[in-house]
Amino acid sequence: MTNKEAVEQLQDLIHDRRSLMTDVEYSDIYKQDIEALQFGINAIEQMEKGETANWIICCDGYYPFCSVCGEEPPGREMSMYCPNCGRRMVTPERSKA
Ligand SMILES: [Zn+2]
Repeated sequence: MTNKEAVEQLQDLIHDRRSLMTDVEYSDIYKQDIEALQFGINAIEQMEKGETANWIICCDGYYPFCSVCGEEPPGREMSMYCPNCGRRMVTPERSKA
């Protein structure tokens, strides 16, 4: 499966979920599904563009934040992808104190 095919599949799933959102009882769950699917699409698109970022560790060595969007990751976990902007993270950098 190519990136393009994966994005198309994810978009289909979003469409599918949207069509189910008339059911009030489940709409919150579907909304979360859509959010996750959209996140996946963003991640693939960022990956294709080859845009990367890195976790910057402050001089206190404790609070990492994304070099592009400036967001701190939940639980200060330096994940492979920024949970906020979806960029792939490369080697963390220590800011010069
Ligand atoms: Zn980011």
